[in-house]
Amino acid sequence: MTGGWFQRASCLGLLATAATATEFVWPTSLDRSQLRGPEDYLQPTESKRLESGGFGMVRDDGHRFHEGLDIRPLGRNKSGDPTDLVFSATEGVVAYVNPRLNGAYGRYVVMLHPRAEIPVYTLYAHLAALQPELKPGLVLGAGKVLGVMGHSSTNETAIPRDRAHLHFEVGLMLSAQFQAWYDADADNRNLPNHHGAFNGQNLIGLDPTPLLTRSSSNVLTVLRSQPVALAITLRPKRTPDFITRYPALLKGGEVATAAGWYVEFSWQGMPIGWTALKASDPRLRPGAWSLFGVKEEYRPLLVQRRMLSANGKAAGETLIRQVDILTANSR
Ligand SMILES: [Zn+2]
Repeated sequence: MTGGWFQRASCLGLLATAATATEFVWPTSLDRSQLRGPEDYLQPTESKRLESGGFGMVRDDGHRFHEGLDIRPLGRNKSGDPTDLVFSATEGVVAYVNPRLNGAYGRYVVMLHPRAEIPVYTLYAHLAALQPELKPGLVLGAGKVLGVMGHSSTNETAIPRDRAHLHFEVGLMLSAQFQAWYDADADNRNLPNHHGAFNGQNLIGLDPTPLLTRSSSNVLTVLRSQPVALAITLRPKRTPDFITRYPALLKGGEVATAAGWYVEFSWQGMPIGWTALKASDPRLRPGAWSLFGVKEEYRPLLVQRRMLSANGKAAGETLIRQVDILTANSR
């Protein structure tokens, strides 16, 4: 399709040049001023391909999405374990601490950053040890110790010691009602969710590189600079809590009288633009939701990410799941 629906998104992105900025520090013991490029900080997977440690469709020959950066250690002790500390990347509040080896993230910490231009989360995974006093609600400045870098996952050996790293993510939470969606999905019956709303499926990341490689950024501007790849229209029974928690992503219309929504997604599956629609809006179609349009140049990437079906013509499993989670409060 052609037309203005995505052009409007990029125009608004240009307008978002607020004067505020959020300070970011490097979240490990590496000295940011010494880093010349990804080769100086990324930890590749077994493939040894540098890009496999980066953000995007970099896993399994481009068929699996990696939602963060894998940052390699600076130092190791005699046993080969990293000696790097892991630091809060920016000021915020500890939101979740998982000390157990009960999922792919291993020991991990999630922080929320209510004072950033949009309240993003940061996530720090595979830690060897957690700072003992960490608990939800603890307010921390940038650069405070969260723990020690490691290779924890579902157990201590799922990631080999020589590939120990910090998995670092920045992003948004899809739904505060994630558990309701999880419990209703038959695929999850035999797989308990140990992490509540801080389950990785409920956290959608953006590329942290522009935030980490500068000393300060406007997080909202960085978030809005992601191109729109696809749009849907949606008729939920209740306003999704996503747009209530992230009102900065509202692009138009009136929330109070919305009969539905026009929602623009990045190719990764982040719902970055929301327009409230009146019942008479011709974009609203019958049914709970429908695919509205696809930006042609992103179609191959959307198929790879399974935002679209294999033939590129219908919604794919990733998009279907994102919409299901976003509307979890309508159940
Ligand atoms: Zn990772």
